[in-house]
Amino acid sequence: MIKTTFVPQNIHGWGSLSALPDEVIKFGAKTVLLITDPFLVQNGLSQKIVDMLNEKHIACIVNSDVVPEPPIESAENLVKFARAHTADLVIGLGGGSALDLAKLVAVLATQEGQVADYLNLTAKKQFQSKGLPKIFIPTTSGTGSEVTNISVLSLASTKDAVVHDYLLADVVIVDPELTVSVPAKITAATGIDALTHAIESYVSVNATPISEGFSLQAIKLIAGSLLTAVREGNNKQARIDMSYGSYLAGLAFFNAGCAAVHALAYPLGGQFHVSHGESNAVLLPYVMKYIAKSCESKLKDIYQAMGFNIGSLSTQEAAIKCIQELEQLVHAVGIANSIQAFNIPESALSTLTAEAMKQTRLLERSPLRLTQEDIYHIYYAAYHGH
Ligand code: NAD
Repeated sequence: MIKTTFVPQNIHGWGSLSALPDEVIKFGAKTVLLITDPFLVQNGLSQKIVDMLNEKHIACIVNSDVVPEPPIESAENLVKFARAHTADLVIGLGGGSALDLAKLVAVLATQEGQVADYLNLTAKKQFQSKGLPKIFIPTTSGTGSEVTNISVLSLASTKDAVVHDYLLADVVIVDPELTVSVPAKITAATGIDALTHAIESYVSVNATPISEGFSLQAIKLIAGSLLTAVREGNNKQARIDMSYGSYLAGLAFFNAGCAAVHALAYPLGGQFHVSHGESNAVLLPYVMKYIAKSCESKLKDIYQAMGFNIGSLSTQEAAIKCIQELEQLVHAVGIANSIQAFNIPESALSTLTAEAMKQTRLLERSPLRLTQEDIYHIYYAAYHGH
């Protein structure tokens, strides 16, 4: 039996932000809480939304305290803010950091407990209700957070997630126009993050014919347009493709799961504050190279989805070429090929390994079950850059 979960209402397209007021009205909301980050206040997008809502007599409280890779304390503070202000609906506007916090705020605004009570690694409590209605509007093409039931938080030594279907949006609005302002470096990191979601979900042991369809289409769109989006931020078609690609990759990994790349990336974020996109990007080729033997035929499919011709290549040859192309793409978009570039000392490899080993939820989806020794080897290769 295959269970596939979708956000109820999905709205896409250049300029689709204009649909927002009508969607809010459908919930009968009179006051909304907009959770966003300081950049989106500075560039006027947050005020544009306030004005659109005010025009329809909907009040809007803005909180822009979101920081990238949010620490759990940020989430606890935002929940306190939401409990102190009465709103009927929550809008998350921003990258994965803003959307992840908006999810928790919407659910916990109406029920008791601290965010820490609901973390995956130490879960003590289960949500009792869905909380406030949620509308998510991504402004990066990367995390796919708008369609997942996951909220990722930074802890002292790693990252952890709250995972529950009550965190799912009621409506998502994916407007590629909002991503035009994303600088090249963030376009690159978030774009490879989305590609990682598509690839990891495709080779996941939980992949289904449905998730595989999302994964392959996401790979096609992202591999075809990422470099252009990085080099020409104003290229409309590239931004559209990246928005669809990251949304589809989100649906793919929400239903089939991410795996070892994410398990190894989380401690880089937690211990060394490497952004989620960059930590996935630097590790992607190394993890895929290490596990390649366990998923050669899928790597061949990925190679084709990236737009390459198989010709007379054997499955094994196509798998090797696929990994070479991934390495090249990561390099071409400007991401370092070694974790040394992020000031991670070799002496940290053992603690990184120990933290990665704790991510059993992620590791058990890898087609090759990785031991502690395997993980150390991958970090070692990623440190030495070969
Ligand atoms: P982000 O939300 O942290 O934003 C990164 C930077 O981009 C910020 O400085 C932000 O101000 C800026 N930015 C955002 N939109 C912009 C725009 N339109 N123009 C210019 N600048 C813009 O980055 P992200 O990669 O989207 O999200 C990362 C977070 O998402 C991490 O915490 C990660 O763990 C989490 N994540 C969540 C899921 C999920 O399913 N919930 C999946 C993957 C990652």
